Amino acid sequence: MQLTQLKGVGEKTRELFEKLGIHTVEDLLTYYPRDYDEYQPPITIGEIDNKIVAAIEGVIVKKLDIQRKGKLQVIKGLIRDNRGETLPVTWFNMPFLRQTLQPGFRYVFRGRLKRMGNEIQLQQPETFPLGKYEEKLLSMQPVYSLTKGVTNHLIQKCIRTALEQGIVLDEFLPVHIRQNYNLIGRMEAVEMLHFPKDRDGLHRARHRLVFDEFFLFLYTLQTMKESGVTAKSPYVIVPAKQTEEFQRKLPFELTRGQQKALSQIRSDLGSANVMNRLIQGDVGSGKTILSVLALMDVIFAGYQGALMAPTEVLARQHYISIKEMFDEYNVPIQIQLLTGSMTAKEKRMAYEEIEQGRAQLIVGTHALIQEKVIYQNLALVVTDEQHRFGVRQRENLAQKGNSPHIMVMSATPIPRSLAIVLYGDLDVSVIRELPANRLPIKNCVVDTSFRPNAYQFITKQAAQGHQAYIICPMVEENEELDIENVIDYAKMLEEQLPSTVRVQYLHGKMKNDLKNQIMEDFARGEIQVLVSTTVVEVGVNVPNATVMMVENAERFGLAGLHQLRGRVGRGSAQSYCIFVSGSKKKETMDRLEILNHSNDGFEIAREDLKLRGPGDFFGMRQSGDMDFRIGNIYTDADVLGEVSQVLKELKEDKWDIEEGQWQVLHAVLEQYQKNSLEKLNI
Ligand code: ADP
Ligand code: MG
Repeated sequence: MQLTQLKGVGEKTRELFEKLGIHTVEDLLTYYPRDYDEYQPPITIGEIDNKIVAAIEGVIVKKLDIQRKGKLQVIKGLIRDNRGETLPVTWFNMPFLRQTLQPGFRYVFRGRLKRMGNEIQLQQPETFPLGKYEEKLLSMQPVYSLTKGVTNHLIQKCIRTALEQGIVLDEFLPVHIRQNYNLIGRMEAVEMLHFPKDRDGLHRARHRLVFDEFFLFLYTLQTMKESGVTAKSPYVIVPAKQTEEFQRKLPFELTRGQQKALSQIRSDLGSANVMNRLIQGDVGSGKTILSVLALMDVIFAGYQGALMAPTEVLARQHYISIKEMFDEYNVPIQIQLLTGSMTAKEKRMAYEEIEQGRAQLIVGTHALIQEKVIYQNLALVVTDEQHRFGVRQRENLAQKGNSPHIMVMSATPIPRSLAIVLYGDLDVSVIRELPANRLPIKNCVVDTSFRPNAYQFITKQAAQGHQAYIICPMVEENEELDIENVIDYAKMLEEQLPSTVRVQYLHGKMKNDLKNQIMEDFARGEIQVLVSTTVVEVGVNVPNATVMMVENAERFGLAGLHQLRGRVGRGSAQSYCIFVSGSKKKETMDRLEILNHSNDGFEIAREDLKLRGPGDFFGMRQSGDMDFRIGNIYTDADVLGEVSQVLKELKEDKWDIEEGQWQVLHAVLEQYQKNSLEKLNI
């Protein structure tokens, strides 16, 4: 249904909503809040502590003052709480407040706390007469992702209108299934999610909608899979003499886990069926070398092989390090880089090399699966850190060759229930141990007062020839600001560290060329301290780096932090990880404590799940994972389990479903597949 069919919604609003990807009324109803604001009891100024948002009861001390700053009107005031402490408060462009907020009146002021040096001020607070705030107390206000011109209020108003006009989303789950799994009705859930009455209702609403989301997703995946058949392999590959020779020359022996995985890969490559194997191994377990050995076997058998990485930085790094290895050990393989940032001319040349078969090993990003790339005889495709690639992209690449073997490598511990459905068709090799020359990383969780010690420590490490990463958080809502963080932070560091320590910053918005250049400089040891956003999170390998310092560690998910930590401890030197927490809250510290006592990614994922529990959804999204609208594959693992159970039961015909009900289900599925799959990046 068109948005403009809603009362009060005109062309202008429609256009605004368009920017948020809301095209229809159904889109609007499923535009879920990204968070909830809970109105907590007011606190005193003395209790502000590290809070970001606070409600403070107080009186306006004197008449508000208005200043002009260019186009901006800044309204300043001072509030005093019951204990006599005062706090500056600022509003922007609301001159009328001067009339309404008279000195001496008592209000509750609720807004963000902004810290500037030692001063804290309350910014742009909402003001409530005391009784009014009481009404709001402990209610939950949805917070939506917004764009210019669209406010929370507008979204809520339009959703309210839609509900009042009686718009419904079809109930597609049969009543028996709902009863059995304790699921409330679909519309009830939608309404409750937008207008929650309490936490409990919200939990139930969310349970239903997460269930729906996973259900539609997994059902679709299952159908896609069933339509494919296990292919016979046109490429039966035996291990090459040259590969074995190369392996003997390597400066290290493969670990037991690597050896086992390699023999599984080799037996797949030599069998009559196409290989579909997932290599799951914690960060630093040495997955890359396995892919190189497998690719060598394939190439020495006369075919082409490809290695696809999720980022430009990582693709380049693989290209450079494999090339160096091949040069060092005289491996006669032509390796070709192909990434999006190459010039048109460079790309044309690369296509030519690939098509003519002169390029034997092709390393790159998504550019590898572009239409223009024609392979001569592609027999093996390896994708690195696969969780960033979609099933579709993988298939795309598979179609490029004549059913090439597929190998995917990932460090993400995926919950079993998801792995079964997602990787049902993949065989899995797990590498459990790290190479023996590694010393376990030493961790510490500290607060910001530890910074001077940390800088001293980093300086010492640099003096010993080592390098360090310092990560500043990247917050979705305010990317601009955070990039500044990285830049400012680097500036500040430069002033604090001796001039012999070269500091450089890196962030995702930089031009690719520049990013690559900086990563290469860092890899070559020309930069000692890299201040970066999480662009270095995945796969980057600079074994000489021994310190990973993460600022505002509390803002990251544990899995993300573990990935970051994986950037050090990659060589034989002792490495250190410093998690700086901006919050002293017990829960935060407990969570970070998990990292402090464990270096095992699988264990960390498990513990994190236990601690946060499936019910807690006020936490952060795991960046880079499949972007469900509302579900989270980690914290909602139990819902995933329920869904796979239902799917199994449906297959076994356990639920006696009427024809009409099937039709509704299929209609909803079709709609879902049209709308959501692209966005979901499967
Ligand atoms: P990941 O599994 O995180 O992708 P990498 O493949 O990048 O890890 O390997 C990390 C580092 O460990 C690389 O420098 C690699 O050369 C080295 N390495 C791999 N296997 C071994 C081994 N068996 N013994 C010692 N070092 C190894
Ligand atoms: Mg890797």
